[in-house]
Amino acid sequence: MLKIGITGGIGSGKTTVCKVFETLGVPIFYADIAAKLAMTSDPVLVEGIKKTFGTESYHPDGTLNNKYIAAIVFHQKAELDKLNALVHPAVFKAFENWAATKVYAAPYVLKEAALLFESGSYKQCDKNILVTAPLKLRLARVMKRDQVSEAEVMARMDKQFTDGQKSKMANYFISNSLSDSIILQVLNLHQQFLALSASTNL
Ligand code: ATP
Repeated sequence: MLKIGITGGIGSGKTTVCKVFETLGVPIFYADIAAKLAMTSDPVLVEGIKKTFGTESYHPDGTLNNKYIAAIVFHQKAELDKLNALVHPAVFKAFENWAATKVYAAPYVLKEAALLFESGSYKQCDKNILVTAPLKLRLARVMKRDQVSEAEVMARMDKQFTDGQKSKMANYFISNSLSDSIILQVLNLHQQFLALSASTNL
């Protein structure tokens, strides 16, 4: 079974593209959802977060104190790096465990991750897709979706590699500009992945 990573800058449309793959029956692992889940359910990670950021990181009922963690990591890159260094290995492990359950279920699976390249988790995948869209369109889509200012979206973008950096590491591209059809591009890649899976026997 092939493992395909899929990423893209904030607002590029990677989640939207994944929804199209989903309609074709492709199993998708959403790394950001898995990370949130692991932060309350993976005992090694929970312990690591408490040790690094203090027991205030969790509410008495065991849920994550998002406000507390966000206040620490949002403006301090070193603290964000520490959090990522704890969370990423937990998500790597969760993906491997999840993928093992899909071996007989599908010829290939997708791993959707905002920081696929930044975290190094693209190495867990046989091939990787980069979703791109013009910066202006990405800004407009995220400002509308999250009801946030342009400055806020730009601040989030600053924490990610640029498309130029990511494109050097990607094997496939999906362009999600106004004039492109993501459905046709997904169908095209789907055929390629089915053929690749059949030929490599992975
Ligand atoms: P993030 O990194 O912030 O999670 P993302 O790359 O997953 O973003 P999406 O959430 O898929 O991006 O898309 C951002 C917004 O743009 C969403 O509201 C989505 O509905 C909209 N959008 C994405 N692609 C298209 C498209 N081709 N046509 C219309 N709207 C789109």
